[in-house]
Amino acid sequence: MNILIVEDELAIRQTLQDLLELNGHTVLAAADGREGVKLAARRPDLILCDIGMPGMDGYEVIGAIQHLPQCRDIPFIFLTARADRDDQRRGMSLGADDYLTKPFSERDILDAIAARVRRLRPLRERVQEMVEQKHRQIGADWSHELLTPLNGVFGGLQLLEAEADTIAPDQLKEVLALIRAGAERQERLSRKLIRFFELERRKITPHPNGTYRCEADAAVATAAERTAQCAGREADLVVQCEAAIVPLSEAYLADAVGELIENAFHFSAPGQPVAVSGRRVDGTYRIEVTDEGAGMTAEERAGVAAFTQFGRGTRDQQGLGLGLAIARSTAGNAGGKLILEPGPNGRGIKAVIELPSG
Ligand code: CA
Repeated sequence: MNILIVEDELAIRQTLQDLLELNGHTVLAAADGREGVKLAARRPDLILCDIGMPGMDGYEVIGAIQHLPQCRDIPFIFLTARADRDDQRRGMSLGADDYLTKPFSERDILDAIAARVRRLRPLRERVQEMVEQKHRQIGADWSHELLTPLNGVFGGLQLLEAEADTIAPDQLKEVLALIRAGAERQERLSRKLIRFFELERRKITPHPNGTYRCEADAAVATAAERTAQCAGREADLVVQCEAAIVPLSEAYLADAVGELIENAFHFSAPGQPVAVSGRRVDGTYRIEVTDEGAGMTAEERAGVAAFTQFGRGTRDQQGLGLGLAIARSTAGNAGGKLILEPGPNGRGIKAVIELPSG
């Protein structure tokens, strides 16, 4: 683990650092509270912090760290000469996870850290570890895309096989939920792939004009409701659609619009609105999906193609490229197009499906 020590006394700081490094940890050392808060931004796995320090004391350090959203969940252990119960209670009420009273033995320190590590690593993370291990074996992007959801399934199964005789009922339920989530992701991805290839095939042998017709507003409403429910974002969704007839089957239009709404939820945080509108404009019907999230660069928008995933590694964007490719092909096959542009005020993305409408 990477452990941050905040301790003003050089001798104690040095002893702790040696002890931790001897036990295989890496150490960030701060000689005062201010430096400690600064180093906490590097997200160590654990913080050991003295209380009595000149300038910023330990209570102020934990208070400052609680205000950094990315550091709030880092386990925090106070080190102190004060054995007073009130001090302990105050430390715990401020969010400290443990309390070590000086002088402490090597065992005390290592035990306290081990206890944190155990609690830090719930079942979910152990499965995640197996998933990542599997990841490394995969490599290529295509297979990565196709197999990623199965990693959760296999990770869960592996865990069940290893602990079949000893697993507690609540842990069993947790692992089963992980397996189910992976299987459901795989199912969604497979359905998208089937749709994508079907759309590609139709580019070659299109249906004669007028084969399909649907009420666009009904399709959009279906897509919006379904997608928001799936993402748990019903409260963030605003839908406003004029009635119109468009040359597509309701199921295909709903799926295409659903892909755009899914992306909008993906790119924005809960609480940020996603607006879906449908308007008749000069013989076309424009369905706009607008979010206020992180947005895409012009280059990313231009690069949208099947299986093209922008900014890979910075966000979890599974299947996103495929979803946009489906929306684009669905619109294209009906004589329309997909347009991606920055949202209002340069924030977020506005995705537009423009369809011919009589
Ligand atoms: Ca001190």
